[in-house]
Amino acid sequence: MSNSRFRAVEEAVRRAPAAVSPPAGETSSYFGEMVFNRDAMRRYLSEATRRSIYETIERGATLDKSVAEHVAAGMKRWAMDKGATHYSHWFQPLTGGTAEKHDSFTDPRGRGAAAENFSGDLLCQQEPDASSFPSGGLRNTFEARGYTAWDPSSPAFIMDDTLIIPTVFVSYTGEALDHKTPLLRSVSAVTRAASDVLEYFGMKGAVVHSYLGWEQEYFLIDSALYAQRPDLVMSERTLAGHDSAKNQQLEDHYFGSIPSRVIQFMKELEFEGYRLGIPLKTRHNEVAPNQFEVAPVYEEINLAVDHNLLTMSLMKRVAERHGFKAVLHEKPFAGVNGSGKHCNWSLGTADGVPLLSPGKTPEDNLRFLAFMANILKAVHDHNGLLKASIVSASNAHRLGANEAPPAIISSFLGKQVSAAFEELLNTKDLVRISGKKGYSLGISQIPELLVDNTDRNRTSPFAFTGNRFEFRAVGSSANCGAPMSVLNMIVAHQLGKFKKAVDARIAAGSAVQQAVLDETRETFRAARDIVFDGNGYSDEWKAEAARRGLDVESSVPVVIDCFSSPSTLEVYRETGVLNEAELRARSEVRWEEYSKKIEIEARVVSDLAYNHIIPVAARYQSLLLGNASMIRALYPEGARDGLAADELEWIKDISDHASEAKRIADALDATCEALSGLEGREKAVRYHDDVVPQIDAMRTHLDALEMIVDDQMWPLPKYRELLFIR
Ligand code: ADP
Ligand code: MG
Repeated sequence: MSNSRFRAVEEAVRRAPAAVSPPAGETSSYFGEMVFNRDAMRRYLSEATRRSIYETIERGATLDKSVAEHVAAGMKRWAMDKGATHYSHWFQPLTGGTAEKHDSFTDPRGRGAAAENFSGDLLCQQEPDASSFPSGGLRNTFEARGYTAWDPSSPAFIMDDTLIIPTVFVSYTGEALDHKTPLLRSVSAVTRAASDVLEYFGMKGAVVHSYLGWEQEYFLIDSALYAQRPDLVMSERTLAGHDSAKNQQLEDHYFGSIPSRVIQFMKELEFEGYRLGIPLKTRHNEVAPNQFEVAPVYEEINLAVDHNLLTMSLMKRVAERHGFKAVLHEKPFAGVNGSGKHCNWSLGTADGVPLLSPGKTPEDNLRFLAFMANILKAVHDHNGLLKASIVSASNAHRLGANEAPPAIISSFLGKQVSAAFEELLNTKDLVRISGKKGYSLGISQIPELLVDNTDRNRTSPFAFTGNRFEFRAVGSSANCGAPMSVLNMIVAHQLGKFKKAVDARIAAGSAVQQAVLDETRETFRAARDIVFDGNGYSDEWKAEAARRGLDVESSVPVVIDCFSSPSTLEVYRETGVLNEAELRARSEVRWEEYSKKIEIEARVVSDLAYNHIIPVAARYQSLLLGNASMIRALYPEGARDGLAADELEWIKDISDHASEAKRIADALDATCEALSGLEGREKAVRYHDDVVPQIDAMRTHLDALEMIVDDQMWPLPKYRELLFIR
């Protein structure tokens, strides 16, 4: 009997909201107190040191060795004043998540004495023995040389007793082994390219930033119940589990009032986040039961990505303190919505001019349309690559299902912007846009119209939402730096092409504004096929998208091929974001990761079948058998009339499902065994083609057994328990 399941459920029901509450009142009094920010720098660094470090942060100037020495000394004093005893470089390996290795400030001084020590060298560069991180062959494990190097543009902070220093992670020969390096390279590519294009608009020398506001979705599951599910523990998703009678059909969870135990969790998460300077803004229930969202105010993209990763690890830690597991998997439960991480992305100048907002004058609107057209063209030309940047074994369950963005990248513009572009395409007499009277393009009307940007299309993976694009296909567990670097890079590359083309028009005698206008029109014309305002889930769209030449592939290992297509190689080469070896290594890492994740699921589901469910089904079956044979023994004459026929039918059902489950478990084991000799793409493709369908097939039988077997005997917490107890 599975008494432990009932004990766990009971315990979950009884669990009271945690007692500790963050301080009430002004959050600004502790916002950023654990960050080595400007305020801390003022107190701990000399003016000259501050000047140099600001120069590095704002303009990417190389930091002098002696300045690094001063910064390290100030940082150490600040951290120790806050109670820190250790320091750590913090980096973003290709496995996802973050990695850190703590060292103590303490060094022996001889004669039994010790002193705290932290030098400029230790701040700037370290060599963690990080040989077990995936490098896709860039680094042989026997020469485990990976270096972490300080990223001064993201401030250091304190977690527990440790000073944490954001870093990039590169190989001995300088190849990127992480997600931050390409992101930083893509940021400089896009800011440079955008700044060049702004010269046409009288904004020479403008400093451009790319911005990100992420929306992190997640589930909270009671830890006691979570611990009872080997599938959740091993793969963060349920590989079996029958629908709960009620799930999200009443839509009563979305934006509903937040349960008190969850509110306690959220408050503490916000408290911890504020202390680390993360501007968390929004919290609400999501569509699925026990699903929630947290979102900050948008920030400069490198910092926003660091803050997202930090929030993800904070969520895990804070949840534990409240008896929850924070589940970031994209699809922990079948039949209810999965979790995404919408990435709201835009470009703007450092002095506050948004480049994706229509302005008040026709000139501003031309600038707006020019940037929009280029972004659309970039997404059009590299839609496969953009998709490749977000696919994974876990996100695959979300994409293409009837709830999340489809597995085809397209862009929604809304009525007004679409109309403005249509007008641009159809208008011949264009010079007057620069004149002060009579604009033949209706562009000057965009600002008023856009105020009411309500026609939002929830099915679009890359939707324009008034002053930004919202990339909705990103998965909740992903390091969103990866898709953001692809987006920055393709836009940078396209802006570069645009600049060349406009310059050529000017050289051929066109006036600047006319040249920009003409090129914007042609750019949009060539990008038009990416625009789709209809229902992205429909079958018609799949056919139509294929006809338009968009990438409609949905097999994750095959989508990853986009990283090695000629157009991808060209854009990476020209922008310098990753070289060919780095790129190849990344594909290898992703194929390997895919295979490993599916293999784990295969092993877990076969273990579930063999060791948890089939034995229980057999026990219930023998109960029924005993029952049936007793009935027949008592009433032997009734057998002819079908006495105990129901029991016999259930017995047969159980037999059928249990033996199918056993057959599939055997097949899964055999397939995994057979694939163990393969590697890379070939292996991942086989896992996708041969193993995933078997995992899905297994589920049917296990779920059928869940419906037949006595609830008292069932060993695993059920959906209704996992999703409704809090
Ligand atoms: P939604 O309606 O999509 O749920 P929210 O307001 O909850 O929108 O979150 C949208 C996110 O977009 C927030 O992080 C917000 O700061 C961010 N955002 C708003 N304007 C911009 C912009 N111009 N560039 C980037 N992100 C932005
Ligand atoms: Mg959103």
